Amino acid sequence: MRKPIIAGNWKMNKTAKEAQAFIEAVKNKIPASDKVEAVIGSPALFLEKMVSDTEGTDLKVAAQNCYFEEEGAFTGEISPKALGDLGVDYVIIGHSERREYFHETNEDINKKAHAILRNGMTPIVCCGETLEQREAGVTNEWVAGQITAALKDLTADQVANLVIAYEPIWAIGTGKSSTAQDANDTCGVVRATVASIYGQEVADKVRVQYGGSVKPENIAEYMAEEHIDGALVGGASLVPESFLALLEAI
Ligand code: 13P
Repeated sequence: MRKPIIAGNWKMNKTAKEAQAFIEAVKNKIPASDKVEAVIGSPALFLEKMVSDTEGTDLKVAAQNCYFEEEGAFTGEISPKALGDLGVDYVIIGHSERREYFHETNEDINKKAHAILRNGMTPIVCCGETLEQREAGVTNEWVAGQITAALKDLTADQVANLVIAYEPIWAIGTGKSSTAQDANDTCGVVRATVASIYGQEVADKVRVQYGGSVKPENIAEYMAEEHIDGALVGGASLVPESFLALLEAI
């Protein structure tokens, strides 16, 4: 049985004070971690405080990005070694906003996945198609290609433990969520892609999230689907009550 995982992605929102207030509001209300895994993806600036404020709770902390080198002359970048040392649990990589605005390639994302795993953290690997690609009927090949490239040269054990987030770009922040059936079909393609490289046993273990306009009112529809093991949530993760409502809906 795959444990559901609900991860908030705050993106570039909140000040340090707002982040702290959010954690204070939710930290004693997170459901037991044997039912659902709860994660917040915070801006890098607050990660150290987030890790210490969530210590002893069932809330885990994710970074939203990191570089693929451990350290060195890379001004402004975030070291995966430093993130691992801080006690960060997850790192979101390959988000469509990073691919689009910061020109991240599948090759970069693959190098980041290796660096994150080397430093004791778990990647949340994002994939997803544009509206033009969906309308052209190339979603499955596109997503399978992104996943194949992102996972290159990882071991079966590493892949079994990671999280993949399928986020159709047209559904992100638009209020226009995918139907549960369509989301499940593409999450199934993600799983089949993993199976084709690593075998069915690994594919049955890897957790696949759906992301794109998920909110407390629609999360149950997604969670009822065979291949959807959780959600990566932007807007609805910013408010304590709605983040808690997402967890309680599981
Ligand atoms: P929304 O939930 O705001 O649509 O954002 C989804 C997302 O991009 C999460 O990474």
